[in-house]
This record gives sequence, structure tokens and C-alpha cells, in this order.
Amino acid sequence: MAYPVTRNDDEWHRELTPEQYLVLRQAATERPWTGELLDETRVGLYDCAGCGAELFHSGTKFDSGCGWPSFYESVRPDAVELLDDTSMGISRTEVRCATCGSHLGHVFPDGYGTPTGNRYCMNSTALTFTEVAEPMTEETIDPTHKNTHSG
Ligand SMILES: [Zn+2]
Repeated sequence: MAYPVTRNDDEWHRELTPEQYLVLRQAATERPWTGELLDETRVGLYDCAGCGAELFHSGTKFDSGCGWPSFYESVRPDAVELLDDTSMGISRTEVRCATCGSHLGHVFPDGYGTPTGNRYCMNSTALTFTEVAEPMTEETIDPTHKNTHSG
């Protein structure tokens, strides 16, 4: 798959911290309970640490108890790419950023009673959080939406 954002290995090394590089570009998994965004509860958007694309919004984050930030659905279906992952001898579904192809984590169909039944188990280091003061609306989430003039 060709991604809208592509960088060579040198560029990724410059753009990312060593830990981010290991997770995003080499599909490493951060240690559970270590992520800065695990306990983040503010209203806002979670963006890809590799390219800044919007991936999840805070309204879909839930406390799964698994030690990684968990969401029940992506901000848009095409924001993420899902791939079969049979590494480590088990069948899982890998989640990548659809904009730059960076590894984010895995999705599991064990969503603890969430609206979708899914648990997007994400590496905190693969995400950056941007607080949004306004209540979430379609306009807030979709940057391509034409601005509406208020007042
Ligand atoms: Zn990305």
C-alpha cells in the first residue's frame, strides 16, 4: 500500500525519538503501564506520532485494564489500516496509521462491552494528544469540512 506520507529510514530516525522509532517503524511494543497517555482523560484528539494524522478521539477511549491506552473505534474507518499479523505464532490484527504506515498496536475483538466490541490496544508512544476545548463536533474532527460561520 502506498501511503500519503512516506519517509526514508534516515528521516524517520530524525523525526522520532528512539523509543518511537522502535514502536512505529519496527512494531515494538512498549511496556504496559508505562505510557504517558494511559491515564489521559481530557477531551481531545489522539494523533499519529509519526505524521500527525488524527487517529482516535477521547470519547472512544476506555479503561481496559490492559496497561495500554485503549479505544473502541478509530476517528474514521479509513484513519487506520488493519493487517493480519501472525508473528509470535498467534493470529492478531495489527493496526497501522493509514497515512504513514506506522505501527500503532493491535485491535482485539474483546471490547469489554464497548459500543463496537473492539479494543484498539495502542502504544502510548505512537500517539500524541491534543486537547480540544470545544465539545466534539463533526467540524472539529474533520479538517476538510468547510468552516461554518457562527454568529
Ligand atoms: Zn501516521
